[in-house]
Amino acid sequence: MNTDHFASACPHCGARGSVHGPSPLWKLAIIPAWVTMALMVCGIALLGPMNIPLLPVVVFGGICLLSSVHRNASEEPECGSCGKIARALT
Ligand SMILES: [Zn+2]
Repeated sequence: MNTDHFASACPHCGARGSVHGPSPLWKLAIIPAWVTMALMVCGIALLGPMNIPLLPVVVFGGICLLSSVHRNASEEPECGSCGKIARALT
């Protein structure tokens, strides 16, 4: 019904181009977020036992980073006109 897959109309108020979903970049950001966390954990392990107390801090920070990236990537698209959640129409 819609030839332009990138222009989404709001199913509630019909406003065109007002629906803003999460950026596809957030889905891409999941990979570097995991890589960053893995590198930080490996880096601390390689730096020696003196840095082991930092490990929980880094792991906690990494979990926060990952959960925020995952949350942003799976956010419901919202209509800027009526403020309702517009689920993907594909
Ligand atoms: Zn709307």
